[in-house]
Amino acid sequence: MRGVRRTMLGELGIQDLMQQAAIYAQTALCKSKWARLAGPKRCAIRPIPPFFARRAGEKRFPHIGLRKRRRWLSSSQSSNPNPHMKPIRPLLCLLLLSLPALTSQAAEKAFRAGASAVDITPAKWPVSLVGSFSDRQATKAWDPLHARALVLDNGETRLAIVVVDNCLIKRPLLDEAKRRAAQRASIPADRILVSATHTHSAPASKTWSAIGTKASPEYLEQLTEGIADSVKRAEANLEPARIGFGAAYLPQHVFNRRWHVAPKAKRMNPFGRTDDIVVMNPSRSKGLLRIPAGPTDPDLSFVSVQAKDGRPIALLANYSLHYVGGVPAGGVSADYFGEFARQIARRLNAPIDGRKPFVGIMSNGTSGDINNINFFDPKPRKDPFVQIKNVASDCADAVIRQHEFIEFKDWVPLKMQQRELTLKLRKPTPDVLANARKFQAAPSDKGLPPRAKAYADWAIRLHEGPATEDIILQAIRIGDLGITSIPCETFVEIGLDIKARSPLHHTFTIELANGHYGYLPTPRQHRLGGYETWLGSCTLEINASEKIADTLLAMLADLAK
Ligand SMILES: [Zn+2]
Repeated sequence: MRGVRRTMLGELGIQDLMQQAAIYAQTALCKSKWARLAGPKRCAIRPIPPFFARRAGEKRFPHIGLRKRRRWLSSSQSSNPNPHMKPIRPLLCLLLLSLPALTSQAAEKAFRAGASAVDITPAKWPVSLVGSFSDRQATKAWDPLHARALVLDNGETRLAIVVVDNCLIKRPLLDEAKRRAAQRASIPADRILVSATHTHSAPASKTWSAIGTKASPEYLEQLTEGIADSVKRAEANLEPARIGFGAAYLPQHVFNRRWHVAPKAKRMNPFGRTDDIVVMNPSRSKGLLRIPAGPTDPDLSFVSVQAKDGRPIALLANYSLHYVGGVPAGGVSADYFGEFARQIARRLNAPIDGRKPFVGIMSNGTSGDINNINFFDPKPRKDPFVQIKNVASDCADAVIRQHEFIEFKDWVPLKMQQRELTLKLRKPTPDVLANARKFQAAPSDKGLPPRAKAYADWAIRLHEGPATEDIILQAIRIGDLGITSIPCETFVEIGLDIKARSPLHHTFTIELANGHYGYLPTPRQHRLGGYETWLGSCTLEINASEKIADTLLAMLADLAK
């Protein structure tokens, strides 16, 4: 029924229907007893324009044969004593009665989209970078950083998805950015999803005292404003649009980085133990590798939004790859996420300047244990940015290959749900705590396990910190597509599980959204141990992934109704 109404409205247009309503309302008035008594002057109405009569007869009722239509039109005219008056036929009466519903539905059913990219390259240098176990300073930008926003509105729901060129952003900053955005735009904070791409070459958005990285207060303000501004600008760019989604198969750039290895490849962890079953980024020396500890997700999912004339507005992609790297020291970079945005704009011949420039967006999928290192077939180290360009180019090509098959829709159901989930925070055992205090008190790193002091600091903080954490989970439905968000460096199995169990046709997860709570392994991966499961790398309770996935699937089930 919805499809039929949309087709009718698409052919006739709201203005035509309104015009027809006005004409027939006046006609009805003229035919009324009161009008006849009032005399002909009160009934001066405009004649129906010939084009409208043609459309009303030919397009509106195509099932009526041409001869019949002509007869119908001529009989209507001949039986009318006043040539300016048209008789009200039962069918038209029906139309008149249903018009208020039709027109209000048409207004509701208009689908609109707007996008923006706000430059968030640091205005003040130097800045501390995040993404490694030592403080690194940057004094310049190799390429710009952006907060990229896409606002969608189907007349019933308005929502924003913002993807930010940063490694990870804590919830308080994002809450503040959403609060400002909600103040300036007509989008409530719980209809705004903000995620970090996870480029490891971005300014620190929090202070890591254990590592010596200090966030710049000026940059934190710039980041907060940039995110809020991107939502406002994307909303200001809203225009009638159509939307479609697709997915490409791109397995060659994703590798599970956790491996079962030969006993001699095992390493001591920061707690002084060597009982981890798997190793992250193991040595690629011959004979050491056994099998990866988990799968990969080769899907490159994307949502494409176009103006009614076919001009690309935005393309939001999602790929489960941690980042690429190969960025020289001393500068910030948006990694392959920024390069993809530039390359997809070129592939789509999209305007990148002007009043409403195209915005390409690459969001991070579930890539907590996935990287771009081919362990079994190692390649020599490339020059800076070469691999970033390779991966971005392959992603853009893969999207373009599928793009021609997209079924664009003029209107789709658009729904969003946000829930807060309270999860327990992990606490160190008495043994781990005692060791942590010992490592922390040591005068230097000498003789300690690798990174012992950093992990000792995190263990003590967890011990002294709160017992629980409230995390934000969001689920979005765009037609048959589902998007879920998780505020962690999420293991790929979790994304695959949500995809497999989702009630919607296709689903992808945006990780590092609405906060950051460390890695999110599954209980099985916790048992295997390794870097991502260490207390400090991972702060949420051991079965957090199951609670998160079950909650998101319940939300998707609600949205699918
Ligand atoms: Zn990372």
